[in-house]
Amino acid sequence: MSDCLFCKIRDGEIPSDKVYEDDKVFVFRDINPKAEVHLLMIPREHLASLEELQPAHDALVGHMLRLLPQLAEQQGLESGFRTIINTGRGGGQEVFHLHIHLLGGTSLPGF
Ligand code: 5GP
Ligand code: ZN
Repeated sequence: MSDCLFCKIRDGEIPSDKVYEDDKVFVFRDINPKAEVHLLMIPREHLASLEELQPAHDALVGHMLRLLPQLAEQQGLESGFRTIINTGRGGGQEVFHLHIHLLGGTSLPGF
């Protein structure tokens, strides 16, 4: 049994506001949005962070990156969007299942 919060969200054991899913990824709204639109994209496979990626994951990573502009467009973010990947405690990562933050909209803070 996985003790991972995002694995439980992927499996529907913990409810989430799902935006998109396919055989490789699951996308849902952040519970504490930092912008008007704040999505989290996770790979279905449990990978703790970028540090666990192997060459065998290259197709997965490419799939995730190419999906981002499509999701942003679906969310109405015509003028652009921001992506963030926090890695490790020193990088501000709080949930240790790899995820890409997709942020945009009127309340996007400065960086
Ligand atoms: P990190 O700091 O690890 O990059 O980001 C973790 C993100 O997960 C945070 O933005 C936080 O708001 C979000 N989060 C934490 N717990 C939950 C939850 O139970 N449901 C959802 N939808 N998001 C969560
Ligand atoms: Zn997980």
